[in-house]
Amino acid sequence: MEAILILLCATVAALAAAWGWERRLRKAEGERHGRELAGQRSNREAELREQSQRTAALFDRMVEGLIVVDAAGRIRLANRAASALFGFEGPAAGKTILEATRHHEVAAVVGRLERELEVLDHELRIDSMVAPRFLQVNALALRDATGSSDGAILVFHDLTRLRQLEGVRQEFVANVSHELRTPLSLIKSASETLLDGAKEDPASLARFLQIIDKHANRLALLIDDLLLLSTLDSGGLRLNRQPLPVRSTVQDAIDDLQARARARDVTLKNLVPGALVAYADNDRMRQVISNLVDNAIKYGRAGGVTAVEASQLPDGRIEIMVVDDGAGIPKDAQERIFERFYRVDKARSREQGGTGLGLAIVKHVVQAHGGEVRLESEPGAGARFVISLPPVPVS
Ligand code: ADP
Repeated sequence: MEAILILLCATVAALAAAWGWERRLRKAEGERHGRELAGQRSNREAELREQSQRTAALFDRMVEGLIVVDAAGRIRLANRAASALFGFEGPAAGKTILEATRHHEVAAVVGRLERELEVLDHELRIDSMVAPRFLQVNALALRDATGSSDGAILVFHDLTRLRQLEGVRQEFVANVSHELRTPLSLIKSASETLLDGAKEDPASLARFLQIIDKHANRLALLIDDLLLLSTLDSGGLRLNRQPLPVRSTVQDAIDDLQARARARDVTLKNLVPGALVAYADNDRMRQVISNLVDNAIKYGRAGGVTAVEASQLPDGRIEIMVVDDGAGIPKDAQERIFERFYRVDKARSREQGGTGLGLAIVKHVVQAHGGEVRLESEPGAGARFVISLPPVPVS
């Protein structure tokens, strides 16, 4: 009996020891597991943080403005482009779309999304102190698994530049039509007059034929200039650049214009040093100089002097100057003088057979050479057009 009791006690003691040991083991195991979970959670949090930073950086690199709002209409996320488009003051997150953008139409777009399932496409105009901006917004309602609204996503495209270009294009088409119509209607009325009987009178016949010839030439010039500008615009002008003796190119241009200069009693002077070499396309440079000298003859002083000068700057660039002693160009016109169809005196330009495209062509051809052209003119003290060309490359 005593032996059985001793055995029972020993068994109970052994069981108690085993149970204590297992509890300690389980506790240690639990702690280890807890530490592991905490580690995993903080890794996951760091991963999520990094992921959301990467996403934000990606959104900030977008050209389009992006705004995400939550179900309560408060901004969850807005990228840098959106902030620039609307000029957000401080962080936008947490504000309503109206508070952040201060634009009712944008807020109304979000309101309309309640009823929309498709992407909403809307154009809006933002009037600012500087100039109006045109935006296209694509908006989509976000919905949860039950189909209830869970906020919205709005993407803004800036159409301002496109609208400006459209305006320029429309103005250009209107100008071209006008420029074509003027000589065309003069040709038409001269030919009608001839057909109505004026052709029977030799003097009238000669006069009206001359009118037709003059305006047909003007049309041809205009079309040539338009085609050249369109080639320049599309970057399709092939330049045959090579070392160019500037003096002889200038002389060729001057020779072509001697008869016109004589008609206004203008003296043309080639003052370019014989040794000066530029790196340019001979035909195109001749055309550029020709346009500038032609203008100097047309708008300079009758009986005056037009000179072409040139020099090499210390940095190797070549400057070619066309200088006249006429009335010059008013200060307010100087900024616009290289624009297509811009003229200081429209009537004078037309009377001289100008197309209004000469200086625009000069600017584009010089730019195609990697150079630039500028005007220096004090009203009353003549005009000085300066072409600056890059240095001749060292071979
Ligand atoms: P256009 O065919 O009218 O000559 P351009 O583009 O060559 O067209 O010149 C634009 C305008 O610039 C001219 O109509 C004229 O009013 C002005 N202009 C150009 N060159 C001179 C100059 N040397 N002196 C004064 N005005 C000039």
